[in-house]
Amino acid sequence: MKNILSINGGSSSVKFALYRSGEPQERSLYGKVDRIGFPDTSLIVYDSAGNQRESRGLTVTDHTTAANSLIDWLETQEGFKTVEAVGHRVVHGMKHSEPEVVTQELLDELHRLRPYDPDHLPREIELIEAFRRRHPKLPQVACFDTAFHRSMPRVAKLLPIPRRFDDKGVQRYGFHGLSCAYLMEELSRTAGEKSAQGRVVLAHLGNGASLTAVLGGKSFDTSMGFTPTAGIPMSTRSGDLDPGLAPYLERTEGMTGKQFYKMVNHESGLLGVSETSSDMRDLLAREAQDVRAAEAVALFCYHAKKWIGGLAAALGGLDTLVFSAGIGENCPPVRARICDGLGFLGIKLDAALNLKNEGLISTKEGRVAVRVLRTDEERMIARSTLRVIENTRS
Ligand code: ADP
Repeated sequence: MKNILSINGGSSSVKFALYRSGEPQERSLYGKVDRIGFPDTSLIVYDSAGNQRESRGLTVTDHTTAANSLIDWLETQEGFKTVEAVGHRVVHGMKHSEPEVVTQELLDELHRLRPYDPDHLPREIELIEAFRRRHPKLPQVACFDTAFHRSMPRVAKLLPIPRRFDDKGVQRYGFHGLSCAYLMEELSRTAGEKSAQGRVVLAHLGNGASLTAVLGGKSFDTSMGFTPTAGIPMSTRSGDLDPGLAPYLERTEGMTGKQFYKMVNHESGLLGVSETSSDMRDLLAREAQDVRAAEAVALFCYHAKKWIGGLAAALGGLDTLVFSAGIGENCPPVRARICDGLGFLGIKLDAALNLKNEGLISTKEGRVAVRVLRTDEERMIARSTLRVIENTRS
C-alpha cells in the first residue's frame, strides 16, 4: 500500500500526517514539530487512534533544520518507505486555482511571491526545499490555501483603491481554502449534494478565523483579504480596521509600518483586548471575573455575527451555516452568542444539541441548517495531492 505525506507548516510548527493512498484515506501516523525557534522544540507523534506515541526534544532553529530533523525521523518509519508524494499547504498561491506539482519554475515563482506573505511563504519554501534536497525523486505538490477562493466574483476580489494596484495583484485572496474545500466535501457527504449546492456560510473559527460564503459549491466571498489579517478579530490578529489608524499611530506614537504590522498580527484580537490570553478557553473561564476577557469574547462573537449577516445578504439568503475549527467545533457558548439574534435569517439553535457539539444543532423550525463539522486540512492536502498525482499518471 502506498502512502501520501501531508505537511502543514505554520509559523512555529510543522504538522505532518501519513495517509494510505487508497480510498477512504486512512491516516496511519501523524504528529508535529512544535515550538520551532524556541528552546523547547519537540517532535510529538500520535498513533492512528490519537494516542501520543512518542515525544522527543529537538534542537532546531528554523524550518529548514526542523524539516531535516523530521525527515531523519520519517526515514526510520516503515510507512515513509512507500510514500509516493508529499503534499504541502502553501498559504499564498496568488492566481493559482488548483494544487500543482512542485517544479523548479513553481519554486522560483514562490520565491518571487514571498513579499505577499512574509510570515508563511518563506518557511513553506524552506520545507519544500528540504524535502527536495533529501528526496529529489519524490514528487511534491503545492496545495494553495487561496485556491478555493479564486472563483469569487470580481466584485468580491476588487479592493477600492487605485486600479493600478489591482494590476499588480493587490486584491482580496481569502485564506483557509483547504479547510473550506474539505468542509464542502464533508457537507456533501453528510448532508447531501443539494445542501452543498445551496447558499452556505462556513465559519472557520480557530486561532485564525474567517467566514466564507459558498454558492453552488464555489467560494462567493470571504472575510480574509489580501492578507490573513483581515476580517473578524482572531486570537492575535485584529481583523478589519479603519485604514486611518496606521497614519494616526504614526503621527501620535511614531509607530512604524513594521511595528504596526506586528501589532495587528501578533498583539491584537483576543489577546490585545483581554490583555491576558489569545485562547478562547481561557477567556471563557475568566470572563465572569474579568471584564477585559468578557469584552474580548463579546467582540469576537459580535463581528462573526455581522459577517454572517453580511455574507447572507451577498448570497441572497442562507440555507446552511457550518461551524468549524477549534472554537467552532468545541465551543457551544460562542456558537450560541454568534447565532443569538439571527432568528430573522432563519437561524435557530437547539440549546441541547448545541451543548453536545452535535453535527446538526439547529431546531426543526429554523429555516437554516446549522452544522458542526470537523475540519481536517492535512487530509485535504493528502486528497488533493493524490488527485494531482493520479492526473499526472493518466
Ligand atoms: P489553529 O487555527 O491554530 O489550528 P485551532 O483550530 O486549534 O487553532 O483553534 C484554537 C482555538 O480553539 C483556541 O482559542 C482554543 O481555546 C479553542 N478551543 C479548542 N478547544 C476548545 C474547547 N473545548 N472549548 C473552547 N474553545 C476551544
